Amino acid sequence: MIKAVIFDLDNTLIDFMRFKRVSCEQAVDAMIDAGLKLPKKKAMEEIYKIYDERSMEDPLIFQHFLKKVTGTVDHRKLAYAINAYRTARSAVLTPFPGTKTTLIKLKEKRLKLAIVTDAPKLKAWLRLSAMRIDDFFDVVVALEDTGRTKPSKLPFKAALNALKLDPEQCIMVGDMPSRDMKGAKQLGINTCFAEYGFTGKGKKTKSDYSIKRIEELVDVVDRFK
Ligand SMILES: [Mg+2]
Repeated sequence: MIKAVIFDLDNTLIDFMRFKRVSCEQAVDAMIDAGLKLPKKKAMEEIYKIYDERSMEDPLIFQHFLKKVTGTVDHRKLAYAINAYRTARSAVLTPFPGTKTTLIKLKEKRLKLAIVTDAPKLKAWLRLSAMRIDDFFDVVVALEDTGRTKPSKLPFKAALNALKLDPEQCIMVGDMPSRDMKGAKQLGINTCFAEYGFTGKGKKTKSDYSIKRIEELVDVVDRFK
């Protein structure tokens, strides 16, 4: 019987790619207003190249971008970008449709809920609280808790310890086969692939279950009874 659901955060609960795209578009528009001479499409391509090379969490993304495309970091343009990004962020940081009702249903079944994310702790909590879903979670394991990213066993072990449960009593839900599914499988945690958040990155690893909408998770959990 399943006693806990462990979720990945970005692209599993949060529609992270949409959030990134819209926030960056607003930042680019603002930089163009501040005098950046670059077509919007080209600017977005350059930003995503930098994200690919570094990380989607790169805290200096606009500094790197301005340096690359203009040869220098103009602080006026940078300020425009950061202000626009932050304003957009609070408006578009939303969970996938059906997330809240699914979390409520899982809680009604007396299941414990946890997060295992590679995001830094503060960013994870900022995202959870901005979406007003932080109250649902009994355990949140973020990057600093183990210093290791998925598919390392360590963050999953940290979650199991905090939940005081065995692997077979838990199911991991995530969009990255090579990290979420692989990592959980190594420990014997049941796996459910969040197809709806899959961005095409990472090879497909077989999972026990696969869902096209987050609401389907309730049925998946029921099958264990
Ligand atoms: Mg993810």
